[in-house]
Amino acid sequence: MNTKVWKVDKYVDNLENNPQVVDAANFLRDNEVVALPTETVYGLGGNAESDEAVRKIFAAKGRPSDNPLIIHIAGKKQLRSFVAEIPEKAERLMEAFWPGPLTIILKKIDGVLSETATAGLATVGVRMPDHPVALALLKSCGLPIAAPSANSSGKPSPTNADHVIDDLNGKIAGVIDGGATGIGVESTVVDCTEAIPVILRPGGVTKEQLESVVGEVHVDAALTDEAARPKAPGMKYRHYAPNAPLYMVSGTANFLQNLVEEKRQEGLRVGVLTTEENAGVFEADVVLACGKRTELETVATSLYDTLRRFNQEKVDVIYSEVFPNTGVGHAIMNRLQKAAGNKLIVE
Ligand code: AMP
Ligand code: MG
Repeated sequence: MNTKVWKVDKYVDNLENNPQVVDAANFLRDNEVVALPTETVYGLGGNAESDEAVRKIFAAKGRPSDNPLIIHIAGKKQLRSFVAEIPEKAERLMEAFWPGPLTIILKKIDGVLSETATAGLATVGVRMPDHPVALALLKSCGLPIAAPSANSSGKPSPTNADHVIDDLNGKIAGVIDGGATGIGVESTVVDCTEAIPVILRPGGVTKEQLESVVGEVHVDAALTDEAARPKAPGMKYRHYAPNAPLYMVSGTANFLQNLVEEKRQEGLRVGVLTTEENAGVFEADVVLACGKRTELETVATSLYDTLRRFNQEKVDVIYSEVFPNTGVGHAIMNRLQKAAGNKLIVE
């Protein structure tokens, strides 16, 4: 398959009628799959009402079939056709954070969406993305769009169109290149089918922000206890992994540098994932600064691109600094833990 690339400037007016966007929307209506920029990461979109389209998403990514997809909408009105009820707290969260990086799990109306998209569950995860191109595409095609991240399953999520092409060229109908994404980690997933909302996946909206709108919010036990079964099926898989084994290191710079030396003596090519503040401190084959430690948002923005750059550099092993587990650091550490398969070395 020849994968089309539509270049779209997200700042131009009237995006909904932009010929490139309209062309991509026609592919979606024909049940083809198309990658699109959002404010979190690039998504791989397909008609959420069509089993045919949704199967193409799973096939292109190599995604396990028990991992449901997030449904993307252009406005709250679209919920009426496939959501059974909107609890009051969910309503308030939508008001506060949509459009934005928050996925809300609600009870679904059976028989509207593809059962493949929702992995046969009685619930559905929905969000309204905060990106002009994504919103224009959603309006232009008029469909609810199922969209996981547009990467091969298990790899770091894509934060620009080149990442998408690296993973999916020839496997999808096209990609809308709308430039680099902003937030860089996926949406927060919050289950609103219970009286107290539960965070199933940390992401772009922090627990503190959610609590400021709806009061008490719980965190799924699986996020802190490895033995617990996650309520978001996707959270049990290894994810975001670079090709080389990645170790998180909790300790001083000296301690991390000693680990680097040991591996270099074995003749290995060693990478260090650090931040701008510490980039000059380490000596290794490849030292990559992933944002600024004092501004954790910048670490989130660069994380996946940095993990992918280690692949290009063909390192044999990667040591990474760890980050505080609060605010957006919660999402960063969750992704790093997955990428490392939980390998942590403590001084
Ligand atoms: P991705 O599409 O890669 O961003 O992953 C979507 C995440 O949302 C995965 O962890 C899914 O398991 C989770 N998710 C989607 N729909 C549901 C649902 N109905 N219930 C629980 N988790 C969900
Ligand atoms: Mg993903």
